Amino acid sequence: MKKVKKKNNILKLIKILMKTLISIILYPIKLFVKFIFGLLKRLKFSIAFKISTTYFILYIVVILIVAFITSNGYFIFEMNKFNDEIIIEDITKLQDYYPDKKKVENMLVKGKLKSVSMYDRNLNLIYSTDKETRYSDNIIVILENLIYNKEYVFSSPIEIENSRYYINFHYSVEDLIYDAIRINALVLISGAFGLILFLPIVSRTSYKLIGPIKNMTEITKTITVNNINTRLDIKGTQDELKDLSQTFNEMMDRIEDGYKSQQQFVSDASHELRTPIAVIKGYVNMLDRWGKNDKDVLEESIGAIKNETENMQDLIEKLLFIARSDKQTLTYTKEDFKISEILLEIEKETKMIDNKHKFYFKFYNDASIYADKNRIKQAVRIFIDNAMKFTPEKGYIMVSGYTQNDYYIIKVEDTGIGIEKKDLSKIFDRLYRAEQSRSKEVGGHGLGLSIAKIIILGHKGKIKVKSTVGKGSEFSIMIPYLEKNSLQI
Ligand code: ADP
Repeated sequence: MKKVKKKNNILKLIKILMKTLISIILYPIKLFVKFIFGLLKRLKFSIAFKISTTYFILYIVVILIVAFITSNGYFIFEMNKFNDEIIIEDITKLQDYYPDKKKVENMLVKGKLKSVSMYDRNLNLIYSTDKETRYSDNIIVILENLIYNKEYVFSSPIEIENSRYYINFHYSVEDLIYDAIRINALVLISGAFGLILFLPIVSRTSYKLIGPIKNMTEITKTITVNNINTRLDIKGTQDELKDLSQTFNEMMDRIEDGYKSQQQFVSDASHELRTPIAVIKGYVNMLDRWGKNDKDVLEESIGAIKNETENMQDLIEKLLFIARSDKQTLTYTKEDFKISEILLEIEKETKMIDNKHKFYFKFYNDASIYADKNRIKQAVRIFIDNAMKFTPEKGYIMVSGYTQNDYYIIKVEDTGIGIEKKDLSKIFDRLYRAEQSRSKEVGGHGLGLSIAKIIILGHKGKIKVKSTVGKGSEFSIMIPYLEKNSLQI
């Protein structure tokens, strides 16, 4: 029993030891894999790291090229010198000494020349200080000798006493090769030292370059509707990142403006709706208290509630129209028709509902337009209604129509209160009413011109306005036409 327990313990120990051993062996591999994955992750996500790595690789390539060029350049230069000085001297000596073999062998004692072989016209070996059997002027043989034996084989035909021979001179170039290797190593070592200086500079510079992007990301993350006025810092040098920040800031300006005007619109609209609701509530209270028995109160209250409900309905319809235009769900039912059709209708209706002003309608010619008839009529009505609202009784209102260039122009001129210069650019804003008209009890929510603008622009038209305070206003509605016609009534 005891023996079995002991055996089990030993097995357990061996198991633990094996596990520890394996994890020790695997540890460097794990570290390496972790390092590679970390590197790949950084390469994927960090531009600064990408720039540093690119520079690092470029630097190494340049150093390798420099090392290669300098060491090989040195070797080629020295070999050329060798050819020009030593070899020519040795050839002359050989020409003098041959066939005195002793003298030729003496040439080998001093200097780099290791062996001399001579061949006849048919390249048969006739003399060699070594065991050479082949005449070798083949570049591959020369390179083989250079690499494996560190020897330079010089082969050439020569003339000795009017006879042609071929020679092989073997020179030892071991010291030259070692010098070239030393130069190579020197350049590589200096390159490595340079790298130690270069790497931190490159990585710092690239992080500095990318810094503004990080900053932009951080700031952009913090922007919400509550701090929509936050902007990126665009101080510093003029570069692409500054342009980007500036463009971003300009975009934020536009978004902020849009957001603010939207908020303003919602608050103004709520305000507009509060008044009729308050009035209705007041009358309902009145009805509750006295209206059950008092017929006059009952009638007055019903009249007022009816009025305010209609007012509210009108406002809500206008708001819905604008909302549909914002959501781009507003549709036009366009057709070809003669503009005189609606102009003459408007003339008739206007004269029927208003007998307090002096109207002049003059349509010089007619034109076919491709448009939504009801919407165009609605838009023209808005200008005429305004002219009626803001022109005192007995004042003149002129409505004319004619073609000019590519447009049919409907001009609505009045002799009313006019619009101040400062208000001219704002009257087409939603819920905007000029000071003068607000004090006048003429009704209106300041939505008419916004709606007219949506309709006219939706038909690729234009609106022009001129006004003089106290004298009157002139609105020109310009609608592109298809065909010009003469007016037939
Ligand atoms: P409203 O329903 O208040 O008339 P509009 O959008 O049609 O709203 O007009 C906006 C404002 O422009 C008016 O409140 C008024 O101050 C000014 N306005 C428009 N037309 C005229 C006009 N013919 N004469 C003077 N002021 C005008």
